[in-house]
Amino acid sequence: MPATSFHTELPMASYPHLFAPIAAGPFTLPNRIIMGSMHTGLEGERDAVARIAAFYAARARGGTALIVTGGYGPNRAGRMTPHPAYIGSREDAMALKPVADAVHAEGGRILLQLLHSGRYGYHDEIVAPSAVKSPINKGVPRALSAAEVVQTIEDYAAAAAYAREAGFDGVEIMGSEGYLISQFLALRTNQRADEWGGAFENRLRFPVEVVKRVRARLGRDALLMYRVSALELVDGGLSLGEIRRVAAAVEAAGADILNTGIGWHEAQIPTITQAVPRAGYAWAAGLVKPAVKIPVVASNRINAPETAEAIIASGEADMVSLARALLADEAFAAKARNGDRAGINICIACNQACLDHYFTFKPATCLVNPRALREVEFAAVPAKAKKRIAVIGGGLAGMAAAATAAERGHAVTLYEAADALGGQFNLAKRIPGKQEFAESVAYFAERMRRAGVTVKLGARAEASVLKAAGIEHAIVASGIAPRALTIPGADHPKVVSYVDLLAGRKPAGPRVAIIGGGGVGFDVALYLLERASKTHLDPAAFAAHWGIDPGNEGSGGLRKNEHADAPPHRITMLKRSPGPFGRTLGKTTGWVHRIALQRAGVRFLDGVAYRSIDDRGLHIARADGGEECIAADTIVVCAGQEPLRALDEGVLAGLGIGCTYVGGAKVAAELDAKRAIEDGVRIGIAL
Ligand code: SF4
Repeated sequence: MPATSFHTELPMASYPHLFAPIAAGPFTLPNRIIMGSMHTGLEGERDAVARIAAFYAARARGGTALIVTGGYGPNRAGRMTPHPAYIGSREDAMALKPVADAVHAEGGRILLQLLHSGRYGYHDEIVAPSAVKSPINKGVPRALSAAEVVQTIEDYAAAAAYAREAGFDGVEIMGSEGYLISQFLALRTNQRADEWGGAFENRLRFPVEVVKRVRARLGRDALLMYRVSALELVDGGLSLGEIRRVAAAVEAAGADILNTGIGWHEAQIPTITQAVPRAGYAWAAGLVKPAVKIPVVASNRINAPETAEAIIASGEADMVSLARALLADEAFAAKARNGDRAGINICIACNQACLDHYFTFKPATCLVNPRALREVEFAAVPAKAKKRIAVIGGGLAGMAAAATAAERGHAVTLYEAADALGGQFNLAKRIPGKQEFAESVAYFAERMRRAGVTVKLGARAEASVLKAAGIEHAIVASGIAPRALTIPGADHPKVVSYVDLLAGRKPAGPRVAIIGGGGVGFDVALYLLERASKTHLDPAAFAAHWGIDPGNEGSGGLRKNEHADAPPHRITMLKRSPGPFGRTLGKTTGWVHRIALQRAGVRFLDGVAYRSIDDRGLHIARADGGEECIAADTIVVCAGQEPLRALDEGVLAGLGIGCTYVGGAKVAAELDAKRAIEDGVRIGIAL
């Protein structure tokens, strides 16, 4: 779908607060939408500069008022990974000039983020205020000497000046999320006895000196944004009173905008996953706001224009920082301004293709928008020859294929055997926290409608029907069939498939055994344990559940958490393979699910052999060699799936019809929406 031009005259804003211009430092920004910094995994890759430039240029063309790059260290020790993603020289910055130029060519503005990783770096030269190891890193950092602290401040200033020379409109200084500046501010990581440690005013000296020196080198015609930690979520983190002092001090030192960040990376509380309600942390920005006069930015889980509008209208913040939301849709701002809410591809907070990629050393992209960060590779050009295409299956893979092919000019008919579009996403959206999946179904359905795809629901496509309709190519996206259990008693009435359970066709009794420890097994457990919970929807319930102090008064903003008295089901989760549960879950999200299940007292049994099922329950052989009957009223089978191929490519070939399998119909080893949607888009572009 072509992005709406930011430069055309647009109708009256549908979100008046979001689209009110705002003065920030030397500039007046046209709206309140900032693209927050996100690691792309391409920082420091010199041969990826054109790719990064195309990525940010698309977001500028899509109406984003201000873009912030991924983080660059102000020196070598401050880089995030072994990649040389730091600005140690003029040459380092000038290599990024095409990025700034590309954004300016689209009428946008861009800041380079200076992020010193401190003890969070994934390399062997990490430094910190004190030699205190992070719980999420392998290495112990080396404590900076006093002279090195001063040099580090100078490195920030020099890097900012180089960024300015390279055409950036200014810099953002990353002062949150537990990176070096947070490490200087908090007693948990700063045990120094010199003028950079001890009393709070000493610990505050480092960020203040950084901002002062950066401002001095930038001059007044550049923008300086500082990202303050609005809520730390770790023991020994700052309290609201201290955070407000930081905010006021960096404003006095020269910051033009105060962005906010939530939680250190080592926090044991979710900050951006699907467990977090939309705008679940905007209140934390609101608590900092009275401390300053400069614009304050709210962040985390702001993925829809109405959410952003409500934050600004409430006065909690002056601007919003959207990162993943703009990965999902480059034209978010322009569409919102046009009142085209239905045309926005909403980020579903899955982290699967963005942060999970970054933290496994792969370039980021987006599950619902595989084009993100691959704008050149995925450029959809009009089809040279218009074809008649059938898509078999109305899940996400099929819808993505149909929409993409139709937008390129092909005549597309989609056949879906069920009476609704959405496939596995229609089940997934019933899982607590996955309600966002409904947005993706609605979005791809809308794209198909606009592109003129003919949709036939409740329709099974026979090869002969396709032949009679003159179809030249069939995209078979008919998904998967759950793998059946083959042990004695598998047909017992207490055995249900996850599909029937999640669809609400079969209930679960109080004692449940879940066969299968993959993503589907976790989904089923979460569905059973949390479906009556509001913690994924209501920020107050979320804060109470996770032990967050809504007044942020004590150290780190933590307090005792509140849980439901007794979980509604007693669950045993089993798997054949030996080893920990949840290994296939996302790196940045799996821990949240594991904590939820552990808190609910779920029993985990790995390395088991399934023997039989009878009225007593599920009989197994345990890994230790013992035999056991798991007493269960309901046994949910999540034991994998097989490809469901509604049409055979051999039969189609005999009729002269081309065939491509996509998504689960191609490979069903793990349910993988990321691959399914990418498959769909790729074939939609290729035909
Ligand atoms: Fe959002 Fe998931 Fe896309 Fe990341 S991969 S931007 S979380 S939809």
